[in-house]
Amino acid sequence: MEDLTHLFRLAADHAADYRRSLPDRPVAPPDQAALARAFSGPLPATPTPPQQVVADLLAAAEPGLVASAGPRYFGFVVGGALPAATAADMLAVGWDQLAFNAVTSPAAIAAEATAGAWLKELLDIPTTASVGFVTGGQAANTAGLAAARHQVLADAGWDVERRGLIGAPPVRVIAGAERHATIDRSLRLLGLGVDAVRPVPAGPNGAIDPGALRDVLRAGPVGPTIVCLQAGNVNTGACDELREACELAHRHGAWVHVDGAFGLWAAASPTTRHLVDGLELADSWACDGHKWLNLPYDTAFAFCARPDSHAAAMSLSAAYLVGSGGVPAGADLTAESSRRARGFAVWAGLRELGRDGLAAVVDRCCALARRFADGLTAAGFEVANEVVLNQVLVGFGDDARTDRVVAAVQADGTCWAGGTTWRGRRLMRISVSNATTTEADVDRSIAAITRLAA
Ligand SMILES: *Cc1c(COP(=O)(O)O)cnc(C)c1O
Repeated sequence: MEDLTHLFRLAADHAADYRRSLPDRPVAPPDQAALARAFSGPLPATPTPPQQVVADLLAAAEPGLVASAGPRYFGFVVGGALPAATAADMLAVGWDQLAFNAVTSPAAIAAEATAGAWLKELLDIPTTASVGFVTGGQAANTAGLAAARHQVLADAGWDVERRGLIGAPPVRVIAGAERHATIDRSLRLLGLGVDAVRPVPAGPNGAIDPGALRDVLRAGPVGPTIVCLQAGNVNTGACDELREACELAHRHGAWVHVDGAFGLWAAASPTTRHLVDGLELADSWACDGHKWLNLPYDTAFAFCARPDSHAAAMSLSAAYLVGSGGVPAGADLTAESSRRARGFAVWAGLRELGRDGLAAVVDRCCALARRFADGLTAAGFEVANEVVLNQVLVGFGDDARTDRVVAAVQADGTCWAGGTTWRGRRLMRISVSNATTTEADVDRSIAAITRLAA
């Protein structure tokens, strides 16, 4: 046992040292080729002592770690895991709990139940909604759209769980032209196919125009219909007008799924709440924990206003649960059977922040995104989106020049931002999603970008 304590302490000490180094560390690793060599080697034929394995892992991985949990990583939409949430996740591994159901781990399921209730309260999702603790926005979109598929086909007299899609009435999926790529993959996985999508044109900032949604709904064909809305365009941060869109969709008998992987957190601050006004009217929601909520990977939530539809689509034992009065939980609401106990980290992270702390994170990230936009505009560069949330798009001239600036910033290592294509143009995308980013981090990053662009 003493060996085990030493081994776990070694891992925890190292993780803490690493976290402490984040504010000063170059954001991108210098030499990726050397890294591949560090991990290579023949398959070991014989056992190796655990201490040696962990020491070798530390040596091999350290040079190739990306400081994405740090305050100057602005790529994709990436948060940095909160301290208590990280420790809780370490315990989930140490306890090695199986969050399949309340028999395999009562504690894991109880943590999910309370964390799920807190999440619904923070996001203004109906208290009666079911919550599946899944791996990411991708999995949450799949679960939400599976529940949607179940219900719209059940309404048309078709039991898709029993009969599959062969011979089923066609399902129409109405989604914004700037939907996230994971929506298309979910539709592929669910057998609906991407050709089922009737795209709705996006307005100037990347949110769909409700008038255009009305036109697509009216264009037919009538029949099973899923409307897929978005809170937080991954490029611009723009949110669809959820209230009007939900009302329109429901008037046409459609199911409304909201992909709010990061944008749904606008609901958690009184300052940004209006951006997602009406979100409570939807039927299912996808939201990430590992982005703006700053929880460890991999954590996300699939909420469903109709728990029976959710369980009918996802449960391992749906036949017993639906209508039986059983309360679906754990693996009944996700695509996994055996699963990681994600509830501990979610419960810990929400306690660590509290309602006010979370609102402050959202507000601070939005203010820092505006600081980026103002600073880069003042430096003579073009901000290409209306900065409504935490996302900023920046142009540095023509596409080739912008790509060169993005590459130079990434190589420099002061901060990290990715490139994107929006409306046919190459742009730098800056996402401020980390709870520890400060004004000084943003100013230092603006200075580096300005210097490199020159
Ligand atoms: C990130 C994102 C997703 C996918 O989430 P993962 O956690 O990467 O699976 C889906 N939709 C939107 C809008 C996103 O920003």
